[in-house]
Amino acid sequence: MKIHEYQAKELFRKGGIPVPRGEVVTTPEAAYDLAKEYGGTVAVKAQVLVGGRGKAGGVKLAKTPDEARQYAEAILGMDIKGLTVERVLVTEAVDIAKEIYVGVIMDRSAQKPVIMASAAGGVEIEEVARETPELIHRTHIDPRYGALAFQSRALAGALHEDFKVVRQIAAIIEKLYDVFETTDASLAEINPLVVTPSGEVVAIDAKVNVDDSALYRQADLEAMRDLSAEDSGEVEARKADLSFVRLQGNVGCVVNGAGLAMATMDLIKTYGGEPANFLDIGGSSSPEKVVTALNIILSDPNVKSIFINIFGGITRCDDVARGLVTAFKEMDLNLPIVIRLTGTNEKEAKEILSEMDLHTAPTMDDGVKKAIELAN
Ligand code: GDP
Ligand code: MN
Repeated sequence: MKIHEYQAKELFRKGGIPVPRGEVVTTPEAAYDLAKEYGGTVAVKAQVLVGGRGKAGGVKLAKTPDEARQYAEAILGMDIKGLTVERVLVTEAVDIAKEIYVGVIMDRSAQKPVIMASAAGGVEIEEVARETPELIHRTHIDPRYGALAFQSRALAGALHEDFKVVRQIAAIIEKLYDVFETTDASLAEINPLVVTPSGEVVAIDAKVNVDDSALYRQADLEAMRDLSAEDSGEVEARKADLSFVRLQGNVGCVVNGAGLAMATMDLIKTYGGEPANFLDIGGSSSPEKVVTALNIILSDPNVKSIFINIFGGITRCDDVARGLVTAFKEMDLNLPIVIRLTGTNEKEAKEILSEMDLHTAPTMDDGVKKAIELAN
C-alpha cells in the first residue's frame, strides 16, 4: 500500500526525522492562508501516489501567498500519470546546497532489509542505478539489531565530507530504518534528503510503502489508504476477501488455492496463452464470492475466455457448482467458459452443471488448451 508524501512525513516527524512544517490543503485559498502564515517561500506539492511529480509540474516554489494560491489553483485538478490531484501539500521551502538519496527496502534475495544511500539525490534512484551504479552505497541490515551506528556512519560518511553533516545524516538513517521497521514498510525513502547551505539536514520528500500483509496490525496506516491509485478490480476483490492480481492477458482464471492459481497461470503460459489475472477464491466458495470474482474478471475488456479450475478438497465441488449456477443466472455471460472440477463431490457437481452451457474439461491441460483456443 502506498501512502501520500504528507502522510509519510507525519510518520517521519513522529520518528524524529527533521521535516519542514507543512499542511495538506484542498483549495487555493487555504494554500494562500498557509503561505501567509509561514511567511517566506513555500513549496506547493501535488499529493498523488506516483513518483516524478516534480518533472510533471506538480511541485512549485511560491515566493508570495499570491503565488501559492496560483500554483495551488494550477496543480489542484491536474492530471499526473493518470491520477487527478485532489490535495496539495503547502510546506516551508528549504534552501538546497546538496540533494542526497537514502532509502530502506526489503531485499528479497538477501532476505534482509537493505539501506541504500547516494550523494546523487533528487533524481530517480532507478536512473542512478542504471547510469552511475557506483554512486549507490548499500548496507544490509540484520533485523534482529536494526541499523547499527557503525553502519549508518559508514553510509553517511560516503555521502558528505563535513562531519557535522555526516552525524546528522547517520542519525536520520537510523531513524528511517526505525520507521521502516515499525510501519512494516516494504520501502521507506527520502529523495531528496537535503543539506542546506548552513549545514542542516532536512527531508523534503517522503515515501513509505506498507506491506499489505501487515495491515491487519497497522490500523493507523490502513486508515491512510487512498484507493484512487489502486486497480478498481483489486480493490473490489480485497473487499470480498479474494486474492486478485490483474495481468495483461486474455484468459480469465477462477481458481481455488494460491498454489493451484500459480500452476494454472504457468500452464496457460506453457501452452502459449496469457493469463488475464491471478485469482484465488479461497477455501470456501460461496456463490457471492464466485459472482464477485466473475464480475471483476468480466469488467476487464481484454478477457476473451474464462477458465475455472477447481480442486475440491475442503472446498466441495458441488458448492462451487451451485455458486456458478447462481452466478450465471444473475449475470449475462457472453464469454466462453471452460471448467475443470475434480475432487470432493465431483459427480454431484457435474450433474448440477450439466444443464449449463459450458465447456467441461477432463484435465487441467485440456481445460487450459481449450480456454486459450477460445480466447483467440
Ligand atoms: P518528486 O518529483 O515527486 O520526487 O518530488 P520532490 O518532493 O522530490 O520534489 C522534486 C524537486 O523539487 C526536488 O528534488 C527539489 O529539487 C525541488 N524542491 C522540492 N521542495 C523544495 C524546497 O523546499 N526547496 C527547493 N529549493 N527545492 C525544492
Ligand atoms: Mn522526490
